[in-house]
Amino acid sequence: MKKHIIIVGGGFAGVHIIKSLKNDSRFRITLVDKNNYHFFPPLIYQVATSFIQASNISYPFRKMIANSKNVHFHMGSLLKVDHENKILETDTGKLNYDHLVLALGTESNFFGMENVKRCGLPMKTIEEALYLRNHMLLNLEEAARNKDIKTAQRLQNVVIAGGGPTGVELAGMLAEMGKYIAEKEYPEIKLSLSNIYLIDALPTLLSPMSRMAQETAYNKLKKLGVKIHLNISVKDYVDNKVILSDGSSIETETLIWTSGVIGREVPGLPEESIGKGRRILVNAYNQVIGVNNIYAIGDICLQHTDENFPKGHPQLAQVAIQQGKNLANNFKRMEASEKLNSFKYNDKGSMAIISKFNAVVDLPKFSFNGFLAWLTWLFIHVLPLVSFRSKLRLALDWFRLFITNNPSIRLVLYPTRNNNK
Ligand SMILES: Cc1cc2nc3c(=O)[nH]c(=O)nc-3n(C[C@H](O)[C@H](O)[C@H](O)COP(=O)(O)OP(=O)(O)OC[C@H]3O[C@@H](n4cnc5c(N)ncnc54)[C@H](O)[C@@H]3O)c2cc1C
Repeated sequence: MKKHIIIVGGGFAGVHIIKSLKNDSRFRITLVDKNNYHFFPPLIYQVATSFIQASNISYPFRKMIANSKNVHFHMGSLLKVDHENKILETDTGKLNYDHLVLALGTESNFFGMENVKRCGLPMKTIEEALYLRNHMLLNLEEAARNKDIKTAQRLQNVVIAGGGPTGVELAGMLAEMGKYIAEKEYPEIKLSLSNIYLIDALPTLLSPMSRMAQETAYNKLKKLGVKIHLNISVKDYVDNKVILSDGSSIETETLIWTSGVIGREVPGLPEESIGKGRRILVNAYNQVIGVNNIYAIGDICLQHTDENFPKGHPQLAQVAIQQGKNLANNFKRMEASEKLNSFKYNDKGSMAIISKFNAVVDLPKFSFNGFLAWLTWLFIHVLPLVSFRSKLRLALDWFRLFITNNPSIRLVLYPTRNNNK
């Protein structure tokens, strides 16, 4: 009997298990995802800023598995796990499993701030990025029509909460677009009214990266005119005013939230399986604590067994990819009754793009920045894209856009059934 492995979540972690187990006739695999496509989160901010198309960084699951006879796709959202009867409940049906792999990733954490959750703009999914894109383009149109300075300023101000790689990359991109595009295309707008604020509760930007990376990011963004506020957190968002922990406030219709994440909820797991940040506790083999035949990999899991990362791994693409590959290998070892391999993260470094032709790269032994770092960033971000076509298309698009400063996809698009108004 073939073992039925269900993988919930086709992000980096889930897709890498599938890559390793496809066409292995000992397994029958079902990928369950709420979307019908895989996407590449590190470049979402370029979709939100109208720099690249969503299709540049996403790929349909069914196309991905078309030549893998043992892999099937089930579009649906996880509702509940019945671990005693080995049943996965989704909003589109129930499925029985022999092994269940949870690879659902995380969602935005608003730390209990209801107004921020209601009115702030997260940027974790393609849908959120497209919403943000429409929102910013519409605000610019309204600002272009508006003669009242206070209103125009509120429409043009952007506050980014979170000075990690995403916040830094987004701030740099928006600042450059203001410089190269807004001036040309929105002549009615007074650019002096536009401010980009980058807020972080920590004393530095890019806190997990090297001192060199932190200082380079700070200096470059300052030079681009970004207003950086460190050691300050967002406390509330009321009547289009972002309230900060030092008592000050900023008027804006655009609060972009890149400040924190929390594991996605998996109803049905016992309480003892859930750890800090709602991440699922796993042992050294990514088996979920307290249940049998259930595994968690990628951002959603918390593993304390890797001696170099006793507090758990950083929530990064490489961790997810390596855990996916290790678990796939362990499924093969289980079938061969061999000893399982514990997971050890091989840290290959981290990087962030700051502005056009400028990035910071931290490798395990040294760090560098500037044009070479930017080229490295470009290369590394093209490589993991799923198909040859998307790699080529993105690389060509990027070079053209970076050189011409002229992306032309600033389109406000709303899907609607009937447009006859
Ligand atoms: C904006 C942004 C920028 C980032 N930049 C970087 C970077 O530069 N470098 C880096 O290393 N990391 C970066 N990361 C982190 C990196 O993307 C994650 O570490 C990685 O995606 C984790 O992979 P995963 O497979 O665990 O989860 P994900 O990639 O989040 O995949 C989760 C999958 O589960 C699916 N899913 C979710 N809920 C359900 C449900 N209820 N039912 C069914 N399916 C569901 C989703 O559709 C998705 O396909 C970034 C993340 C974001 C959001």
